Amino acid sequence: MSEFLPTTLEEIQQRGWEQIDFLFISGDAYVDHPSFGPAVICRVLESKGYKVAMLSQPDWKVEKNLAALGKPRLGVLVSGGNLDSMLCHYTAARKLRKKDNYTPGGIMGKRPDHATVVYSKLAKKIWPDLPVIIGGIEASLRRFAHYDYWENKLLPSILIESGADLLIYGMGEKQVVEIADYLAGGADISTIQYVRGTSYVCDDLQNVTEQYVSLPSYESILQDKKLLANAYKLQSDEQDPFYGKIVIQQFATRYVVQNQATYPLTEEEMDAIYDLPYCRTYHPSYEKLGGVSAIEEVKFSIISQRGCFGSCSFCAIHSHQGRIIQARSHESILREAKLISELPDFKGYIHDVGGPTANFRHPACSKQLKTGACKHRQCLFPDVCQNIDADHSDYISLLKKIRALPGIKKVFIRSGIRYDYLLADKSNEFLDELCRYHVSGQLKIAPEHISPSVLKCMGKPGKEVYLKFMRAFNKKNEEIGLKQFVVPYFISSHPGCTINDAVELAEFLRDTGHHPEQVQDFIPTPGSCSTAMYYSGVDPVTGKKVFVTQNPHEKAMQRALMQYKNPKNRTLVKEALQMANRLDLIGSDSKCLLRLSQGPQGSGSRVKGKVLQKDNVRKDTRNSKLRKR
Ligand code: SF4
Repeated sequence: MSEFLPTTLEEIQQRGWEQIDFLFISGDAYVDHPSFGPAVICRVLESKGYKVAMLSQPDWKVEKNLAALGKPRLGVLVSGGNLDSMLCHYTAARKLRKKDNYTPGGIMGKRPDHATVVYSKLAKKIWPDLPVIIGGIEASLRRFAHYDYWENKLLPSILIESGADLLIYGMGEKQVVEIADYLAGGADISTIQYVRGTSYVCDDLQNVTEQYVSLPSYESILQDKKLLANAYKLQSDEQDPFYGKIVIQQFATRYVVQNQATYPLTEEEMDAIYDLPYCRTYHPSYEKLGGVSAIEEVKFSIISQRGCFGSCSFCAIHSHQGRIIQARSHESILREAKLISELPDFKGYIHDVGGPTANFRHPACSKQLKTGACKHRQCLFPDVCQNIDADHSDYISLLKKIRALPGIKKVFIRSGIRYDYLLADKSNEFLDELCRYHVSGQLKIAPEHISPSVLKCMGKPGKEVYLKFMRAFNKKNEEIGLKQFVVPYFISSHPGCTINDAVELAEFLRDTGHHPEQVQDFIPTPGSCSTAMYYSGVDPVTGKKVFVTQNPHEKAMQRALMQYKNPKNRTLVKEALQMANRLDLIGSDSKCLLRLSQGPQGSGSRVKGKVLQKDNVRKDTRNSKLRKR
């Protein structure tokens, strides 16, 4: 059984350590599992011989708590946790969430808002002479000037706000070891300005000797919102490790300098990370507090690869993990499957084998590992690139091997499947395997929308591709005699989505017989292309103006349309249909989204009622607040 890293001074002393090398401060509870970034970074450093202690969710209101494990020899590493702390705390409606899945017992308030900034500043205050290095999703996606939806304002780079010495962006294993080695060799943190996958702050650009790209400054974006779209496009074009340049952004008199991205990890490097001796659960001290529920999602799941060449606009994964897929070997994945199968509460079901996109098991095409991913072309949008390698045979073979392991009854795929990529594989074998062995009755997929203009902003394929997949899925299930269904996910209020587009989606749901139980309102999370659209009103890819709704009531209407059958949504649906000038969808016809009450007096009065209520609708339209706007 593996041992957790020390979390108290006593545990440090029990190991016979006089001093730790690195203190890791995390906004999440300590879960020693390869799906948790802080655990991975700590295990990687440990494997290189560094003494690391974990300080999870310290009470930041009491300064001395951060010093509880003593002063580290080489530095402090800070992460907000597995999620951005603001996303973890607040909903799309900017309301406080009820539960924090990354905290024991789900209790809210155990980490501060903007956790990375708060911890980093405190660490600097306690030990001004110690290097403070920030990383994780929160630091990575806030590395340039960015829009914070919950504060509704443009914030400077998190490096400027936190006062940290160095920022690790992307997946950080390579960078953290390189930095640790330099520090252990006696280098001053201020001189470590050359590590790929890191950013730093400087007062002038004298030491930047390579060619670089300048983004619009923070101050200029404050003056002109549209420049955020331009900044996003410029920095996103330089994210490729093979040809990307250094990127610089000015903040008043200072500069944030981003070095080029790290090269993709090799299979051996990926295996080495995932083969480390994780305890695979939360720290035992949390047991009496109710445990950490985030482990439930991943306990019986396996990460088989990283990266995504899907490049959906609302997702920042490609900006964090890169567009080039980095995969583990079958042997390494099978070792993990075996470990899972030996867990005492394992019931024979592997919940997932995947990554950001389940069926991306290798780079999109052969040139990506030689010269990088195309700068001005996406691999799957607007159409599947003709150079794409959509062969699923490696994934099929991996899944077969896992299924054959003793004690494993079933292997599910819960990570998203890109159906356009699946359909691009001419062999059709993966769909067969998927339906036969890896779906638990319902396959969740994410068309996200169906209106062409919205899908264009999202960077997603057209609805005809979704319908083609549905037909293929249904036909396959009929062929093999299984009753399985597709459960599609859609997003409301994405930039580009007008009330008419939302009505179009509702009509599509009506025609396809989908009645989603859960719907997702678009959340402009830091660092995504869609967030730049939301703030600037401009599509960074096309440079063209985009419709954006920021009105909470209009957003609520779009959301309600997706669940137009829910009686609670009647008022909003009615208002939405009035706004869209679609009164034809209010009435008693089977195509109507808002069915008028039938009345107790039989069909004659129904007709009469219909006319009367339509009159009321017109009256309401005149009185509608939205029409007054
Ligand atoms: S050639 Fe096609 S598949 Fe390859 S990187 Fe470019 S767009 Fe992607």
